[in-house]
Amino acid sequence: MHFTGTIWRPPYEAASLLIQATAGCTHHRCKFCTLYNDLPFPFRVSPPEEVEADLLEVQTALHSPIGKLSVALQGLPVREGPDRVFLTGANPFVLKTDRLLEIARLIERYFPTVHTIGCFARITDVSLKTDEELEQLQDAGYDGLTIGVETGDGPSLAFMDKGYTPGDILTQCCRLDRAGIGYNFFYLTGVAGAGQGERNAIASAEVFNRLHPRLIGSSMLTVYPDSQLYQEIKAENWAEAGEVEKYEEMRALIFRLEIPVTFAALGASNAYQFQGQLPEDREALLAALDRIIRRENEDRLRSYRTTLPHL
Ligand code: SF4
Repeated sequence: MHFTGTIWRPPYEAASLLIQATAGCTHHRCKFCTLYNDLPFPFRVSPPEEVEADLLEVQTALHSPIGKLSVALQGLPVREGPDRVFLTGANPFVLKTDRLLEIARLIERYFPTVHTIGCFARITDVSLKTDEELEQLQDAGYDGLTIGVETGDGPSLAFMDKGYTPGDILTQCCRLDRAGIGYNFFYLTGVAGAGQGERNAIASAEVFNRLHPRLIGSSMLTVYPDSQLYQEIKAENWAEAGEVEKYEEMRALIFRLEIPVTFAALGASNAYQFQGQLPEDREALLAALDRIIRRENEDRLRSYRTTLPHL
């Protein structure tokens, strides 16, 4: 398989077939981000022959006698093929529509069992496509995009150099809604800095409540020395929120979300991991967060954060 560098995927894509369509990120400027620093280039598009070779490799492995034996020995369910493909890379949705449609055709040729194709996408990737193109992509199976919006707070988006505004989030996600392409958000708890958590949660809830994400996944900000944000902290231009404040912020966000949505705090950046459906599980989630806020102390949570080798 043609995988390059560390491969990132959301926790809920664990059962999806991972195929590398791009590597790295076209933006590469978010101050907190170190995710693709291990690559020797900022961004690369996988040639069609690489994508096809990887699909063939998986197909061969799946149908080989050894592959079938391995499935039986592990007691895994026998499957004709995957239901879903997740294209890897920070933002494969930036690819031209023709290229994304070509990838969808290749996937269908090798795995007719696949119903949907997901990937990470930036808000700016959506803006590059016409409404007609979005409809074509929906027809081809693109669904369940994961968008790392991080926040709906304008000043935080600008400071972190995300490259779009809260208005852009609203405009582009409404276009996805109209095209019928589902999407999930990643929210970065702590991205507004010390003392700004509640303001960040309020501003973000205002944006999210006007949209239809299926899931809002919270990551917690972890600052690594090779990030631009680390330099901003050293220069005293920005201060990191405390760990307890991050949980208070998450509570404030859940408290204000009025849309039906799955809220998930999964992944290593969360010292406490949980998931629930809003609005049904709101009280249980708030009660769990209240317990964490009441019982935890800053030093213990901080030592978890500082010993995180990578997200
Ligand atoms: S868009 Fe995503 S992957 Fe790219 S720099 Fe920003 S956070 Fe990192």
